Amino acid sequence: MFGVFADRRWVFVDVETTGSSPARDRVTEVGVVTVETDGDAQRVSEWSSLVNPGVPIPAEIQWLTGISNEMVRGAPPFGELADALYDRLADAVFVAHNARFDYGFLKAEFSRAGYDWRAATLCTVRLSRHLYPDRGPHSLDAIVERFGLDGGERHRALADARLLWRLLQRLRARHGEAELAGAVERLLARPSTPPALPPGELEAIPHAPGVYLFYGASAHPIYIGKSVDLKARVLAHFANDHASGADLRLSQEVQRIEWEATAGETGALLREAELVKTRLPAHNVALRRKAGQVLVALDGEAAPRFVAAAAVPLARLHEHYGPFSSRPAARRFLQALAAEHGLCLKAMRLEGRTRAAAGAPCFNHQLRRCRGACVGAEPVGAHAARLREVLEPRRVPAWPHAGAVALAERDAGGSREDLHVFDRWCWLGTVRSADAATQLAAGAPRVFDADVYRIASRALAAADAEALLPLTAEDAGATAAPAGQLGASICDCR
Ligand SMILES: [Zn+2]
Repeated sequence: MFGVFADRRWVFVDVETTGSSPARDRVTEVGVVTVETDGDAQRVSEWSSLVNPGVPIPAEIQWLTGISNEMVRGAPPFGELADALYDRLADAVFVAHNARFDYGFLKAEFSRAGYDWRAATLCTVRLSRHLYPDRGPHSLDAIVERFGLDGGERHRALADARLLWRLLQRLRARHGEAELAGAVERLLARPSTPPALPPGELEAIPHAPGVYLFYGASAHPIYIGKSVDLKARVLAHFANDHASGADLRLSQEVQRIEWEATAGETGALLREAELVKTRLPAHNVALRRKAGQVLVALDGEAAPRFVAAAAVPLARLHEHYGPFSSRPAARRFLQALAAEHGLCLKAMRLEGRTRAAAGAPCFNHQLRRCRGACVGAEPVGAHAARLREVLEPRRVPAWPHAGAVALAERDAGGSREDLHVFDRWCWLGTVRSADAATQLAAGAPRVFDADVYRIASRALAAADAEALLPLTAEDAGATAAPAGQLGASICDCR
């Protein structure tokens, strides 16, 4: 008589949290409605608890959930609830709205408490989408309204868990036992792991920042990516409900996943930029070209010149503008700048040959966008000065430090610290100790790279003073020294 709900234990679950990342943020409330069938009787029981997250709840989240710092102050931490909650959830079908969120948070909290918890999940967003493919949105608010479900105190965990249980009963009434059971079975059975990936491979990936590499049959990676939450990002590639065409192809091909954890996002970005360039994965298209990177140089009143970024001496980087990913990208940028500021395409030598007849106005002038350097209406010197001025925001800044610096990046738990060593916008490497950073600063080659420059300038600008460790201040010009000498000079310094 209880049909679809009879052969298993079901738990309808909602969690409230301090944010959106299972790796960084914590659970503040858990609500569970348990439905189990015992002989002829169906038992429904409820359980909920506030959870002391051990960290402050951001103001906007307090407003959204109605759970304040005062409310959780006296509540037990997750570790004290873990045992009872584990028993309550064990061997049940885990039902939640956007189940990956609730499941991910509970899995992370259980893992911190020393429990390896997992469950078969039924996502009510996917269920709703499956039964009503043309009737979005599928948010809980929208569903509550569509079905006239009594909301009670929305956004509190137990209230939302109750809504999910009521929703399933409503769906059974509307669609009948067989259709609901069929939909549930299909969603529960739907594989969310790539067919050629050995089981357990996804489980081993941590909720931590880092880079990941997908391999197919060959030794070459087919895709390289980075994330502040490796597991969530990798799983997102294989989520059936919103996989892109590219992700579907990846999912079919991937046979092995490698990953490297980093302390934070900067380390992940740097490592990704390096791996994509050295390993040339087939499916990455955005980050691959390094050879084509250019800087723009301005010499007196002459037209802008494009120079290969890697060929510019580091001491002269700040005399250049950019960097740009390619020569065409630099041209497009300058053309847009010209249109915006009334600059002359001819004086900048950005016009195609067909218009190069001497004395003829440039294309922009015909559109009244050029102030007339091409026809002598604007002095060449004045034009050059204006170009210099509007390009100034794209000038590579002078390196603001006396020499190399190490940027310390700590993970959320404070257990790992990476030192990213930079000198004159070049990344020398990432190490785990100050000694190793000093060695890198003394010996590693400096090679300018546009992607690294962008990552480094952003990370260094955002860094607190205490996260920056100056290295080799008096020896900033150091180039590769023989290894023996290097060791000796480091010892002498102490
Ligand atoms: Zn012109």
